[in-house]
Amino acid sequence: MNQTLFENNKARLLKEKEHLEKLLGRVARRQATTTNEEYAPKFPNISDDMDDNALEVDQYDVNLGEEKALEPRLLKVNAAFERIASGTYGKCSVGGEEIEEARLAAAPEADTCVKHAR
Ligand SMILES: [Zn+2]
Repeated sequence: MNQTLFENNKARLLKEKEHLEKLLGRVARRQATTTNEEYAPKFPNISDDMDDNALEVDQYDVNLGEEKALEPRLLKVNAAFERIASGTYGKCSVGGEEIEEARLAAAPEADTCVKHAR
């Protein structure tokens, strides 16, 4: 892989990681019991009033949905950092061949070549 693409992707992944962590921080809190990224949706406590309780449940549903959408993206980004650290970034996780540069440029977190995607 060319070095410029590698450096660009590292920077993009870092930005994406910060972005996702910020978004996740709004809707979920990190589980203190685990070492890897595990988030639990925040349960808002507005008040004990009945109407407010209904509102809290709604907000929890929203948080749960967002958390479910965001966490897999963050896990993918973190997995890409692990491959960078182990020197396997840019290699297909299925066949071991080089991932197409166009694919990596479009999706820095990609861990398979076009042929082995999905
Ligand atoms: Zn492949």
